[in-house]
Amino acid sequence: MTKTVTLAMGNGGEENNELISKVFYKAFQNDILEKSEDAAVIHGGEMAFSTDSFTVSPLFFSGGDIGKLAVCGTCNDLAMMGAKPKYLTCSVIIEEGFSMDELQTIVASMKKELEVNGAIVVSGDTKVVPRGSVDKIFINTTGIGEIQKKGISSNNISEDDVILVSRDLGCHGATIFAAREGIELTSNLQSDCASLTLQVQALIDADVQITALRDATRGGVSAVLNEWAKQSSICIEVDEESLPVSQEVYGICEMLGFEAVNLANEGTFVLAIKKEDEEKALEVLHGFENSSNAVKIANVTVEYVGKVVLLSSYGTKRFLETPTGELLPRIC
Ligand code: MG
Repeated sequence: MTKTVTLAMGNGGEENNELISKVFYKAFQNDILEKSEDAAVIHGGEMAFSTDSFTVSPLFFSGGDIGKLAVCGTCNDLAMMGAKPKYLTCSVIIEEGFSMDELQTIVASMKKELEVNGAIVVSGDTKVVPRGSVDKIFINTTGIGEIQKKGISSNNISEDDVILVSRDLGCHGATIFAAREGIELTSNLQSDCASLTLQVQALIDADVQITALRDATRGGVSAVLNEWAKQSSICIEVDEESLPVSQEVYGICEMLGFEAVNLANEGTFVLAIKKEDEEKALEVLHGFENSSNAVKIANVTVEYVGKVVLLSSYGTKRFLETPTGELLPRIC
C-alpha cells in the first residue's frame, strides 16, 4: 500500500477493500466482522448492528440532504440483514460558523426519516471544531435493528438464486455529480435517497425466500455483485440489456465518462432470491413507487467463480470489475 491514505481508498471499490482488509480487518479480526455483511449479526442472530458516517457535499441536493441520508444509510444497512431498525445514535462534527437554520433543517430531515423507519435516536454526541477543521458538518449514525428473518447472508448465494435490482441505477451519484459540476438539470433527475425498510418488510411478509440483500451505495451495483461473487464463490452472469438506467442518468454518464453500474445509489438494493420466487418478489417490489421498475438482472453460475460477467445483446462476454480509482469522493 501507499505511504499515505489516498482518496481512492474511500471509493467503496478495490482500493477501499484493500484498506479495510489490510488495516482494519487485520487488527480487529473476529468471526462476526469477517462475514462482511451490510450489518453485523449479533446476539444469537436476533439483532443487526451497523454504523456509517456521512460527509456528502453538497449538504442539500435534489431528493434529499445529509440528514435524510444519515438515517437512510444506517437503516438500510440494517434492513439488508432482514432487520427492522429500532435504535440509532447520532454523532455530529460541526464546523464553527455553520448556519443554525441549516442545522435545524438537517435535524428535521433526520426526524422525518426516523418516523418512516419506526426508529428513534437514543444517544448522541456533538463536537464543534474551529473553522476549516471540517467542511461544514459530518454526521455519524449507528443503529440496532431486530432481525425479522434469520439467515440472510451474502455468503450463501447459489445457482438456485436469481439476482434482481430494485430500481434504475445511479440516480444518487449522477445527482451529486451534476450538482458539483454546476450542470443545470432541466429533467426530473433526483437522488434515489430513500429508506428500504418497508420494501424489505413486505418481501418478508410475502414469504419470499431471500438469500441476500445489499444496498448498492459507493461502488454501485458493480461493487455489490463483485463482493457477492467472491463471498459466495459463484459467478454472476449479468444480462447487460436488463440493467435499468434512466435517460437522465445515461446522459450524465455519457457527458462525464461514467458507467451507471459504478455510480452510487442511496435507496436501491440488489436481491438474491430463490428462482421460484422471482415473480412474487417483483410483484411485491412493484407495489412501491421507489421500486416500481424492479427487474431481474442476472443468473448465478459457476463458470468463472468469484467473477461477474456481462453478457451483451450480441452474445459477447466481458468481466464487470470492481470499480477502481477516485470515483466520487464525498458522495455519501
Ligand atoms: Mg450497505
